Amino acid sequence: MKIFTTKESLSTYLEELRNNHKSIGFVATMGALHQGHLSLLAQSQQQTDVSVCSIFVNPTQFNDPKDLEKYPRPIESDIQKLEQAGCDILFNPEVNEMYANNEQWHLNLGDLEHLLEGKFRPGHYQGVTQVVFKLFDIIKPDLAFFGQKDFQQVLVIQKMIDLLHMPVKLVMCPILRENDGLAMSSRNIHLSPDDRQHALVLSRALNWLKQNFDVTQISSLTKQCEDMINAEPGVQLEYFEVANGENLHNANKDTKQIVALVAAKVGNTRLIDNMIVRDQLTGDQ
Ligand code: AMP
Repeated sequence: MKIFTTKESLSTYLEELRNNHKSIGFVATMGALHQGHLSLLAQSQQQTDVSVCSIFVNPTQFNDPKDLEKYPRPIESDIQKLEQAGCDILFNPEVNEMYANNEQWHLNLGDLEHLLEGKFRPGHYQGVTQVVFKLFDIIKPDLAFFGQKDFQQVLVIQKMIDLLHMPVKLVMCPILRENDGLAMSSRNIHLSPDDRQHALVLSRALNWLKQNFDVTQISSLTKQCEDMINAEPGVQLEYFEVANGENLHNANKDTKQIVALVAAKVGNTRLIDNMIVRDQLTGDQ
């Protein structure tokens, strides 16, 4: 695996590959890699000639400085995992390589910016689009692989691609879970053994909702899920919502894709999860 830390050296190298008609796949991460990240890389390896993975803990998307400070950064073991998985290129820049001082950025993301995650993490999606724009600009991938785990992020990045007419196709990849249902996340290492058990209520509620889904009963089903989560010790619910998967507006009987999304603090760790409960876009349900 080739490792680059500067924009210039990476883009020069990729330019050469592009001239040789190689297609480029890209997986953006903040490191502390797990099987979920590696499943995105596997998709990229299947669908493109050259796979680039980035590891960059992006300061502008953290609204809580303590969260940024304690974000795990096990770079040596991450490099090993990527080597083992056969990743072609790692981009691992320092903060000052990515940002000049006092840089400004604003994209009109419409109501996606203020719904759900947007409401609980003000400014988060401005930071996400700021860094993903830069990464797309340097790497110029043909395909970019993002996880359904961050469902709203996928919508936000698609919106940026549309607004700025960026020549990249976004591929949303399924959520990888631990055997007991917990969605894999770099933040799971912060969970104590007790937290880890309590956290299971999130995937349990989502599964229950999917099994009992009835579009005419959304508000009472949502209430039952909220009650289930609120009854779990150590878990502080931020939101549980059932929404239209295309725009996160309210879902109704004509909505093609319906997704249930949840965020909660478990102990001191903020977790998110979601499940598609109806999918007539891809014909899954
Ligand atoms: P992160 O390092 O948390 O920024 O995540 C990098 C990418 O991996 C994002 O596109 C995430 O949605 C994706 N990802 C995170 N967790 C999972 C998971 N459990 N399954 C699949 N993809 C994931």
